Amino acid sequence: MVDRHDQATDPRLQEQLLQARRGTAFFARKLNELSDAELDGGSLLPGWTRRHVVAHVGYNARAIARLIEWAATGIETPMYSSPEARNHEIEFGATLSPIALRHLFDHSAVHLNVEWRDLPDPAWQHEVRTAQGRIVPAEETIWMRTREVWLHAVDLNNGASFNDIPATILERLLQDITGAWKTRGTDTGIFVEVSGQSQAMAFGDVGAVDATVIAGTLPAIVEWATGRGAGGVAAEGPAADDAAPAAPKWI
Ligand code: ZN
Repeated sequence: MVDRHDQATDPRLQEQLLQARRGTAFFARKLNELSDAELDGGSLLPGWTRRHVVAHVGYNARAIARLIEWAATGIETPMYSSPEARNHEIEFGATLSPIALRHLFDHSAVHLNVEWRDLPDPAWQHEVRTAQGRIVPAEETIWMRTREVWLHAVDLNNGASFNDIPATILERLLQDITGAWKTRGTDTGIFVEVSGQSQAMAFGDVGAVDATVIAGTLPAIVEWATGRGAGGVAAEGPAADDAAPAAPKWI
């Protein structure tokens, strides 16, 4: 008999898995709303059609499944053999027929879910290496995937917005992004203030005297910080022209 329940018993892991599954279901819903012809349309990502986004999300699930196999077996299997191979795979995937592209998304998501489901508690702490070369416990793959499915559902450009993304995910995304800026020192002179929170949320160059202040709700700030648009934020200060300056790169 196949066990259909998660092997993981840690409530924290279960909660994270739930968020990843919700995000996957959300992406599937937005994809299903698109006709085959609409797959040829533009995504929010420069140079990428919706086809590229779907192919990328599908191959990303396969790549993350390889990390889970690595965690389960101890046999090193990288996400991608090289950055070129990753890009080549996406370009190829974007040329698939609509039905093949939809299958790629569905099957890869099911496969990853089975790998996650069958991973026992201790193996979630086994270390694996991401495509960027970071060494992380296998449990980090849940967040890696969660981030991908929610963000790229918006990138499909057919009605999903940052308001659809749960606040806990937006908060963690913002921590990732502002953390990356800090590590690279690219947030000099930028002060990010999130409004409408029960606790004050401020990021960036918090000590600067004449910083450019970017303010907005959590969804609007994350939209701006991920480079998806500045329509919902207000900017004031030296770097603010008519609109907010572009956010520093984060990946
Ligand atoms: Zn991605």
